Amino acid sequence: RIEPMPAPVIVWLRQDLRLADNPALDAAARFGGPVLPVYILDEAGQGEWAPGGASRWWLHRSLEALAAAFAKRGSKLILRRGAAGPILEDLLDETGTELVLWNRLYEPWAIARDTAIKSRIVAKGRRAESFNAALLFEPWTVKTGAGGPYKVFTPFWKACLGLGAPPSPLKAPKTLAAPDRWPRSEALDSWALLPTKPDWAGGMREAWTPGEAGAQARLDGFIADALAEYHVMRDRPDVEGVSRLSPYLHFGEIGPRQIWHRVQARVAAEQASAKGAEVYLKEIGWREFSYHLLFHFPSLPTTPLQAAFADFPWRESVADLKAWQRGLTGYPIVDAGMRQLWATGWMHNRVRMIVGSFLVKHLLLPWQAGEAWFWNTLVDADLASNSASWQWIGGCGADAAPYFRVFNPMLQGEKFDPKGEYVARWVPELADLPTPLIHTPWKATEIELKGAGIVLGKTYPRPIVEHEGGRARALNAFQKIRKES
Ligand code: FAD
Repeated sequence: RIEPMPAPVIVWLRQDLRLADNPALDAAARFGGPVLPVYILDEAGQGEWAPGGASRWWLHRSLEALAAAFAKRGSKLILRRGAAGPILEDLLDETGTELVLWNRLYEPWAIARDTAIKSRIVAKGRRAESFNAALLFEPWTVKTGAGGPYKVFTPFWKACLGLGAPPSPLKAPKTLAAPDRWPRSEALDSWALLPTKPDWAGGMREAWTPGEAGAQARLDGFIADALAEYHVMRDRPDVEGVSRLSPYLHFGEIGPRQIWHRVQARVAAEQASAKGAEVYLKEIGWREFSYHLLFHFPSLPTTPLQAAFADFPWRESVADLKAWQRGLTGYPIVDAGMRQLWATGWMHNRVRMIVGSFLVKHLLLPWQAGEAWFWNTLVDADLASNSASWQWIGGCGADAAPYFRVFNPMLQGEKFDPKGEYVARWVPELADLPTPLIHTPWKATEIELKGAGIVLGKTYPRPIVEHEGGRARALNAFQKIRKES
C-alpha cells in the first residue's frame, strides 16, 4: 500500500534568497517531509517602498539563480505575484499545508503585513513560525542600561559585541523532498522586472553576478585580496578596497553570520588581517545599527529623528536636483559618483557621503530627495541603511555628523582619489586633465583646458553653485532652525 505523501511545509522566501544559513528552509528540511519553497512579489504590500528599478533588475537575476539552486536539489521555487496574505491562504487550501515558515523582515510595512498574515494562518487552524536570517543581533535583543533602544552607534556596537559571537551558520540542506504535486507557478519573465526600452542595465550586468554563488565568490575574493588592508583602503573609491557585498546582504544571498565566521576564521589563520577584520565587522555593525533604528523609530525613512529639522528651510529646485542626478554639477567627484551609481547601481561609501553632503548642503535640497533617487537607482537599496544614512548626512539622524560640518568636494576628491583615477573613469571628458586640476577644472588655464580637450560650460559644466556661497547658504539655514528650536 502506498502511503499518501504528507502535506508540504511552505517556506516563504523574501529577503533571504539563499539555501545556506537559511533557518526557515533548514527547519523545513529537517521535518523530513516535502518542502514547498515560495516567493511572492507583493509590490502593493510594500507601498511606496516597493523595489526601485535597479532592485527589480537584481531581484530578477537573484530569483533565477535561486530557482536553479532549488532545481538542482530536485525541488522547485514557486513564483506568485500579488498580495502575500491571500496567496498564502490559497496555497494552504490547495496543498493542505499545516505549517508555514519564514525568516523575519524588519521594515515597518513588513512587520504590519506579516503580523496580520500570521494571525490569519493561525485563525485557519494552521501554524506559522519565523526565524532570524538577516541580522547578527535582532533589534529587541540589544538594550541600553535603562532598557531602551540605542541612538548612538559606539555604545550600541559595544553592547552587541558584549553579547558574544553569533551562532555558526547552517549548511544548505542536501536534499529537499518534493510534494506530490507542484502548485501553479508564474513565469519570472511575465513579471517584467528587467528593463526593456531602453535597456539601461548593461553596466549592471557587467558589474554583478547576483545570487548565492556570486556572493560567496565576492566574499572569497574580498577576504583573500582586501580584508587585511580594509581599514586603510576602505575610503578609496579608486581602488578595490571594499567588499561590495551590500546588494547580496540586502537580498539575503549571503547572511551576516556567514560573513562574521568567515572573517574570524581568516583572522585565526592570519593574524595580520586582525585590524582590517575588526573595522570591517564594525561596518557590518552599522548595518545592524540601521536596522535597530528603523525598528525602534519606524518613521526613520520619512521624518527627521531630530524634531528641530521638521521646519528646515529646504530649497526646491528641479533643475539642481536633475543636475545632481545626472552627474552634471560641475564638481568632478560628485559627478563621478552619480554616474557610477547610474551605470552600475552602486557607489562607493565615501562618495555616497560626498554626493549626499553636496545635495543637502551645497544645493540645500531635502535629504528625502536623495533618499528617493538612491532607492530607485541602487542595487543595494535597503530601507534601513538608506534612511539611516540619509538622516546621518542630513544632520538630523540619531548619531549624525553635525549639520555645520560641510564636506569640501575638492579636498575630498584630492584626498581620496589622489591620482584622479576614479574621476577619469566615470567622467571621461576630464580624463586628460592632470591632478589635482581634475578635481577643480575651473581652476585650469585656457591652455590647460584646451590641451585636455575641455570647453567649460560645453563639454563639462561649470559648478552649478559656488563652493563658499553654497556653504554659507547652508550654514545660514542651519542657524535659522537653531534659533527657533
Ligand atoms: P563594505 O565597506 O565592504 O562594508 C561591508 C558591509 O557593511 C556593507 O555591505 C553593508 O552591508 C555594511 N555597511 C557598510 N557601511 C555601512 C553604513 N554606513 N551603513 C549601513 N551599513 C553599512 N547601504 C546599503 O546597504 N543600502 C543602502 O541603501 C545604502 N544607502 C546609503 C546612502 C547614503 C547616503 C550613504 C552615505 C550610505 C548608504 N549605505 C547604504 C551604506 C554604505 O554606503 C554601503 O553599505 C556600502 O557602500 C556598500 O558597499 P560595500 O558592500 O562594499 O561596503
